[in-house]
Amino acid sequence: MADIFSKEQRHHVMAAIRGRNTKPEMLVRKFLFSRGFRYRLCHPRLPGHPDLVLRKYRTVIFVNGCFWHGHENCRYYRLPQTNTEFWQAKIERNQKRDKEKQCQLAVMGWHCITVWECQLNPKFRERTLESLAYTLNSIFLADCKVRTYEMTDSQDAMLAADSDVSYRKKGKIVE
Ligand SMILES: [Zn+2]
Repeated sequence: MADIFSKEQRHHVMAAIRGRNTKPEMLVRKFLFSRGFRYRLCHPRLPGHPDLVLRKYRTVIFVNGCFWHGHENCRYYRLPQTNTEFWQAKIERNQKRDKEKQCQLAVMGWHCITVWECQLNPKFRERTLESLAYTLNSIFLADCKVRTYEMTDSQDAMLAADSDVSYRKKGKIVE
């Protein structure tokens, strides 16, 4: 396959072939760890073998190479000039499989986040990682809200609501 890839594509393809512990994945892992997010690596029993699993956030993360996974509208996803049909079919299969696996994960109650390799280029890296942290925190907070909502039938929750009202009334009096 010496001539079918540009130098840049080739670099990305080789990174994808090496599989685990690619540089993009390591960037995400390092960032999450430094922010106190704890994860497991590639849970073998989950559909699609996600790269990272954050049980507390009910979230799985895929760190995808743009070429193999066919990142739409991405400059790294450009089909080689030779054997174009072969590559197109192959990558479309990958795209289809990715979608299927993510649907299965969603049905199982997992949030799926895909981080694309190009989003981890130095220019975009910080923004991507910050938005990843933001997304994880939002997911966590949304899950907490659901738990609070489920508790509103209980007496404790009613009491909490009442005291909240009286607190607000007090606030008005002070005004
Ligand atoms: Zn991309």
